[in-house]
Amino acid sequence: MPFFASSYRDSQIRGDQAGALAVYFLDVGQGDATLIRTPSGDDIIIDGGPNNVLIKKLGVYLPFYDKTIETIILTHPDNDHVAGLVEVLRRYKVEKILMTRVLSDSPSYQSFLDEVEINNIEVEVIASEETVDFGDGVFFNILYPIESFAGKTVESTNNTSITGQLVYASTSVMLTGDLEVEESLVARGLNLKSDIYHVGHHGSNNANDLKFVSAVNPKYAVISVGADNHYGHPQYRTLKNLESVGAEIFRTDKSGDLIFYSNGLEFSQLQAP
Ligand SMILES: [Zn+2]
Repeated sequence: MPFFASSYRDSQIRGDQAGALAVYFLDVGQGDATLIRTPSGDDIIIDGGPNNVLIKKLGVYLPFYDKTIETIILTHPDNDHVAGLVEVLRRYKVEKILMTRVLSDSPSYQSFLDEVEINNIEVEVIASEETVDFGDGVFFNILYPIESFAGKTVESTNNTSITGQLVYASTSVMLTGDLEVEESLVARGLNLKSDIYHVGHHGSNNANDLKFVSAVNPKYAVISVGADNHYGHPQYRTLKNLESVGAEIFRTDKSGDLIFYSNGLEFSQLQAP
């Protein structure tokens, strides 16, 4: 419906001008793809999902003239996180990539690394805690990993996932990729409290233990998950843990794209077009 689409875009532009941070948890099936748009319109993509759905979504949510992605963060090299990014590297000007450079023989990861080289994109290897400044008062506090996985083969690529808290003024989003050792963050005594929790590992029971979920204590929990996936995600214990801390649960398999705006004081949800 064109009228709705254009009024949606207008409201989006007004939101940006009003100094809002927009976070789009995109429905890409079984996988993660998150688009973050800063108040002045810089674009950050965290993971790209398992296919080229991301490219279509960028066409919907980015202004037609915006062909630059300022930063891509690849949490880890599994297909359901990296595959959709390959086409983004081909079609957009990507200024910088944050990743661990852990080794993986996933074919889509090889294609991703090839495009990084062909397009001569700046890469920052994440191997310790750090704060990334996206401008406009938007920061990404990287909490994990705290060791270098670069050039290493590991037992579980999930446990190399770049994990961090996106912060805009007094609002925050916790993003953990497919990390299954979040209790290590609790043990480090970090302040993990966040308004939104992008639920770890698509709601798997291998992640999301109650200690961690309680420490994050989110108002909203967003699960990126494909309908009828053969992993059984999200799993019962995860949903119970989220309910027990009073989080309102959203799922991409049920609601499609999930869009949240922060005015710096609180997040509100905007209906996708
Ligand atoms: Zn995954």
